[in-house]
Amino acid sequence: MKSIHWFRRDLRINDNPAFNEACKSGEVLPIVLIDPNLWPTWGAPKQAYLIGSLSKLNESLNGNLVIKHGSAVDVIPAIAKQFSINSVHYAADFSEHGIHRDTSIKNELESLSIEFIATGSGYAVAPGRVTKDDGTFYKVYSPFYKTWVKHGWRAPVKSPKEFPKFIGIESSDGLPARPDVNGVYIPPAGELAALERWKWFKKNALADYSDNRNRPDLDGTSKLSTALKWGEIHPRTLLADLNDSPGHETYRKEIAWREFYADILFNRQDTVEGYYNPLYAQMKYDTGKEAEQNFEAWKKGETGYPFVDAGMRQLLAEGWIHNRVRMVVASFLVKDLHLEWQLGARHFMQWLLDGDFASNSHGWQWTAGCGTDASPYYRVFNPIGQGVKFDPTGEYIRKYIPELRHITDVAVHEPWKVLGGLDHGYPSPIVDHAMERLEALDRLAKLPKAIK
Ligand SMILES: Cc1cc2nc3c(=O)[nH]c(=O)nc-3n(C[C@H](O)[C@H](O)[C@H](O)COP(=O)(O)OP(=O)(O)OC[C@H]3O[C@@H](n4cnc5c(N)ncnc54)[C@H](O)[C@@H]3O)c2cc1C
Repeated sequence: MKSIHWFRRDLRINDNPAFNEACKSGEVLPIVLIDPNLWPTWGAPKQAYLIGSLSKLNESLNGNLVIKHGSAVDVIPAIAKQFSINSVHYAADFSEHGIHRDTSIKNELESLSIEFIATGSGYAVAPGRVTKDDGTFYKVYSPFYKTWVKHGWRAPVKSPKEFPKFIGIESSDGLPARPDVNGVYIPPAGELAALERWKWFKKNALADYSDNRNRPDLDGTSKLSTALKWGEIHPRTLLADLNDSPGHETYRKEIAWREFYADILFNRQDTVEGYYNPLYAQMKYDTGKEAEQNFEAWKKGETGYPFVDAGMRQLLAEGWIHNRVRMVVASFLVKDLHLEWQLGARHFMQWLLDGDFASNSHGWQWTAGCGTDASPYYRVFNPIGQGVKFDPTGEYIRKYIPELRHITDVAVHEPWKVLGGLDHGYPSPIVDHAMERLEALDRLAKLPKAIK
């Protein structure tokens, strides 16, 4: 028997039930697709990361990874036919686009008498499984978490003891050329790097995770979001190592946020760009030249608010931002600059290596006040207060904003109050936070009462 394992967001060999299923056949064609319509829309950093991850996957497969450039609906049935394949294996995808694509391919393969078999997904519990007693989905995180824990998940699966015979490598198109990333830091990619990072985090930071997870100046979080996004590691692998101590429990809860948002998006596919609470679409948002200039300043990290700017520059420098800072920069865009959250979400998706529609759109909607469990719209993050609290020495700011390195203490959060603070080219604040907060509340007051 011959099978294909189609690697998608499961770029790993270990704890990969779909790959294991494929390996039960005598001959396996391991394939990954580069879609020429999608690839150019990704920024260079994401392309470079993926090329790194695929190279590592190829090494794990002893150089047998077949890379095809083309759209899945064209390539998968054609190659299955060419190699007289009996079954095509993959891990399920729950996005609207993925469901639609997989249905077309299934129909095409079935017409060729080839099985199309999904095993597992990128989640501990597949979206759609955790429901209320009445069968509807949870719209609030805490009860979702309780039921999710009660539902439980499988233990990690062992990788095949021996690989089957790999076939098809002669038809590989090879990896695209690595683009110039213009100095952006690309972290080590691939399954082994993810397992190494998890090992380091467990040993050095997990016990203190509850205390340190909000501190962008410390290496206190796992930084595994990118590996989780691309399936270089499975959440089950992480969950299996957790006990009931406070740090471990908090970490489990964060993994559950990822699962919760995937579940919400599965049930509300319109919320990638649509308002979860549609009444917020009626809020007055700024448009026009000044709004565009403010948006540009936000993107470049030149708003004059150091904690916001450090975050936006971290995004451009590393393709990643600390969670606390993601919340603050998102709040600033929506509530200080009065721009729609989708503008920021799109910019994040272009730059974040871990960019994921479920976590990103719902992280934005939570901060903007229009999502599930939303942080109420009237709670406006103070960009200075948040900085002082979570970056108490200003270390994080100095790391990403060279123009402020001459301010060596906590005063760096308000450089305009320091003599010579703005002497090295750092801008004055583009807006007055106190006034914009009132403006945001005023716009909220003008919305229909039902949503406040
Ligand atoms: C506006 C905004 C946009 C976001 N966009 C994304 C995104 O595109 N992709 C993404 O993976 N996460 C996103 N997040 C969630 C969160 O910021 C990142 O998952 C986290 O910063 C990743 O760092 P870490 O791996 O060190 O996290 P850790 O603190 O080590 O947490 C472990 C894992 O739990 C999950 N997790 C933690 N916090 C959240 C959360 N709030 N929501 C969902 N999952 C969470 C992630 O998979 C993370 O890797 C966003 C949050 C906000 C506020």
